[in-house]
Amino acid sequence: MRVTFLGTGTSTGVPVVGCGCRVCRSQDPRNRRLRQSVWIEHEGASILIDASSDFRAQALTHNIRRVDAVLFTHHHADHIFGLDDTRVFAYRQRSFVKAYGTPETLEGLKKTFWYAFADIPEGGGRPKIALVPVTGPFDLLGLHVVPVEGDHGSMTVTGYRIDGFAYLTDCKRVPPATLEALKGVDTLVLNALRYTPEHPTHMTVGEALAVVEAVRPRRTFFIHMGHELDFEELAAALPEGVAPAYDGLVLEF
Ligand SMILES: [Zn+2]
Ligand SMILES: [Zn+2]
Ligand SMILES: [Zn+2]
Repeated sequence: MRVTFLGTGTSTGVPVVGCGCRVCRSQDPRNRRLRQSVWIEHEGASILIDASSDFRAQALTHNIRRVDAVLFTHHHADHIFGLDDTRVFAYRQRSFVKAYGTPETLEGLKKTFWYAFADIPEGGGRPKIALVPVTGPFDLLGLHVVPVEGDHGSMTVTGYRIDGFAYLTDCKRVPPATLEALKGVDTLVLNALRYTPEHPTHMTVGEALAVVEAVRPRRTFFIHMGHELDFEELAAALPEGVAPAYDGLVLEF
């Protein structure tokens, strides 16, 4: 299995439009963060976790030629707005792209992409999406996927554990049952927005490090980072085994 980080930024992306702060003006490419998503390749299968607002650009950059399924974490705009752009894959593959998510997440997709599900004549460029509710662990194209719950403040988000790899974003808190389910994981991907101040729906770096301490994975990568975090400074400040992710980072399993 190969995991490519397509985007590691918070909902605005970095640089933030119109911002002149030092991270937004930085020449370090690792400070340029598209909206967050990862691409998983496994024995010919191609799976996304979330379809970000920047998905089209990400697919072009990484030469994504196939998408079988998208595992959605929740239905906030930055995580779903790329779903429409999966239609080119559905047409080329002559099959529906499977969209996995909790019933609540799928309801959100149905509202946002109403035209994909409405009873209207064919002819436009409608995305072809097959909704698949996630209610427990499932097998997907040779991978065993275990969903876990995260607390996003105002809503529940879904994290995904695939063998030794676990991906959890947009959490403010990680419930005890999820900490338990993540035990023994090799590689944890976790959201960390900024150092301070605290945020009502996203963990700070300190809060994320407390989760790392509880789970004790071999290595951890932070995602969903804001323009308050400079890559090099953060990388130097984090404890051993913890690093900021960056757009284009590839992990092999
Ligand atoms: Zn988000
Ligand atoms: Zn900025
Ligand atoms: Zn969110």
